[in-house]
Amino acid sequence: MALRGLCSTRQVDVVTARMCIRMCIGCREREDRSVLLRVVAAEVGGVLSAVPDPDRRQPGRGASLHPRQHCLDLAERRRAFSRALRSGVPLASEPVREYLAGRA
Ligand SMILES: [Zn+2]
Repeated sequence: MALRGLCSTRQVDVVTARMCIRMCIGCREREDRSVLLRVVAAEVGGVLSAVPDPDRRQPGRGASLHPRQHCLDLAERRRAFSRALRSGVPLASEPVREYLAGRA
């Protein structure tokens, strides 16, 4: 948790930058977390879902995903959301899909 503050300071220091690398759960490429969309598990209309957290404000475990359709498709196909977020049950990914559609 102490690293969270460091990552938000946008330092160009190499060591700091390395701490801010996350893996996209879709294509599994490593990327700076500033370009990845954070996703958390939350209940939406009574359905446990993967929900975008672009401001990184939600507590709890988060997963990182490139904000693009291709990576969402890959993540859905391999059920990466429920695995990365340890939900134990399949997560609906409609909120993420809608978020990406809204950005396009
Ligand atoms: Zn990706």
